[in-house]
Amino acid sequence: MDLFEYQGKQYFARFAIPISKGEVADTVEEAVAAAERVGYPVVVKAQVLVGGRGKAGGVKLASNPEETAEHAGNILGLDIKGHITRRLWIEHATDIAREYYASFTLDRAAKMHLSMVSARGGIDIEQVADEEPEAIARTHLNPLDGLGIEQARDIVARANLDEQAREQAAELLVNLYRCYVEGDADLVEINPLVLTTDGRVHALDAKVTLDDDAAFRHPEWAEFSNTSDVDERERLAKDKGLQYIGLDGTVGIIANGAGLAMSTLDVVNQVGGAAANFLDIGGGANADLMASALEVINTDRNVRSILVNIFGGIVRCDEVARGIVTALGRVELASPIVLRLDGTNAAEGRRIIEELGSDQIIGEPTMLGAARRAVEIAARGGQA
Ligand code: GDP
Ligand code: MN
Repeated sequence: MDLFEYQGKQYFARFAIPISKGEVADTVEEAVAAAERVGYPVVVKAQVLVGGRGKAGGVKLASNPEETAEHAGNILGLDIKGHITRRLWIEHATDIAREYYASFTLDRAAKMHLSMVSARGGIDIEQVADEEPEAIARTHLNPLDGLGIEQARDIVARANLDEQAREQAAELLVNLYRCYVEGDADLVEINPLVLTTDGRVHALDAKVTLDDDAAFRHPEWAEFSNTSDVDERERLAKDKGLQYIGLDGTVGIIANGAGLAMSTLDVVNQVGGAAANFLDIGGGANADLMASALEVINTDRNVRSILVNIFGGIVRCDEVARGIVTALGRVELASPIVLRLDGTNAAEGRRIIEELGSDQIIGEPTMLGAARRAVEIAARGGQA
């Protein structure tokens, strides 16, 4: 889960990483009131889950209420790379002497944490990596050793940070590492990390990605997930306890088990189609879960056909069939279903579907046959 800048900064603050004083605002009036409390001059910043806000006009300095109102008005509703700005962060402006870069992330190939620090911050770090890779001090950290102050001092020296920034930056790095590990993040990034004209080092931006698999030990994360702008389909699925990943094809796929779902994806590709999603209803699928799965797929406007591929084991095909009947009672399906039922209670499942007598459900005995049918229907724009 990605955090907005203002949430990331709140997260940083818990680990004693210095940030500017600020407040969130959802309207122009709130922005003006927040600026008054924060103290002029202020920076009005778009809160969207995408970088490059500054270049897109989403970060503006204001030195009085008129300017705050003007910038807030322009930035609220602003489309930044497809993300609409709904919230602002108003923070006390900083006098910047130098802009640096600092991050921790996991290097899966090396099986170690990776620290990246550079004196060339403020700009896109990928650009620095391309043009001047030696300007980034890259350091692998063994998770068993962690990061101590000595090694942090070495890192900021190798990164060529200005002499007067080094000790504060080293202390900040140690705290940022704690934020990353103890805070269960997959990524923490500060760009820019600044040296102020009066000699202080602090975080001017915050990018934090939390490790969703650690959510069970962070009940406090609930406040973050409510505001996150995840794919609407994925949110709906998660609320219903489904494993769902949105893709950009036209064949909606429901299968029981991740392995079968992936094979189904492959077979759809093999016969010339493209999957609109990956949806695994799991090993304990029942009628209600099946109905929820169909409801989620039904909200995807790209879908032209739905391929339901169930191999009954613990999951019973008659339960799945009842789920389809339930779903048809709850929602009007926008696309026909191609249904392959095999395994436990398959005959009973097929009988239930036959009794329903819907021309929107086409039975196919094999996975390949079902995939072909679903792809044909999708190619015809959803005509069964
Ligand atoms: P991003 O463009 O999405 O990465 O947004 P940032 O939060 O990094 O802001 C972009 C740029 O705005 C920074 O690199 C700074 O140069 C500038 N900026 C942000 N906050 C301040 C501030 O308090 N004072 C000044 N002078 N510039 C700022
Ligand atoms: Mn930035």
